[in-house]
Amino acid sequence: MIFRQLFERVSSTYTYLLAGETSREALLIDPVKEDVPRYLQLLKELELRLVVGVDTHVHADHVTGLGDLRDETHCTTIMGEQSRAECVTRKVADGELIKVAGVELRALYTPGHTDDSYSFVMSDRVFTGDTLLIRGTGRTDFQNGDSHAQYDSLFNKLLKLPSDTLVYPAHDYKGWTVSTIGEELAHNPRLQVASEPEYVELMNNLRLADPKQMDVAVPANLACGTPAR
Ligand code: FE
Repeated sequence: MIFRQLFERVSSTYTYLLAGETSREALLIDPVKEDVPRYLQLLKELELRLVVGVDTHVHADHVTGLGDLRDETHCTTIMGEQSRAECVTRKVADGELIKVAGVELRALYTPGHTDDSYSFVMSDRVFTGDTLLIRGTGRTDFQNGDSHAQYDSLFNKLLKLPSDTLVYPAHDYKGWTVSTIGEELAHNPRLQVASEPEYVELMNNLRLADPKQMDVAVPANLACGTPAR
């Protein structure tokens, strides 16, 4: 499998490119609108054809590249079935498979950061969106976020994956690139709680400022980052 972790500096977003070695079919997870030209260039350089674009959730901190990529490459655009982004071509439910030749992802519904948050699982790795970050977890104080649901998504779903599963989040603000489920269980400060109420209490007291691009990004992302047509 071909794999690239791409970083967008303004919103500290990771975008993942996955592709089949022989098929040259590619999939992008969480593309950022401003970086679409860069993705198209890289796809060309690696002689790949973009078949699928996926967003883990409706983002509040950057505008998605899904709409532009769909217009440029005619790729299928995918989000979870709870998403209110009506622009996507396919909505997946928990357990459904997303395939391009040589790459297979299993959708895992992990609400909490938002009510439409999904993680995508492969045999050796998981793309955790903003549900599980490296040494952190996604905030739960807007976009129908719910710290109770996030506790369940973390402790009863993601952290049940094999401990050597690689963790690839949608963001990192400190320079981390990859972790494992075991490493996060042991060292992620947000996960060192004894109970769900303790986690909820922790999350309810973060008092974070709204993301800078939120007022622009959320409405734009409900339209896949492209104006209504
Ligand atoms: Fe987010």
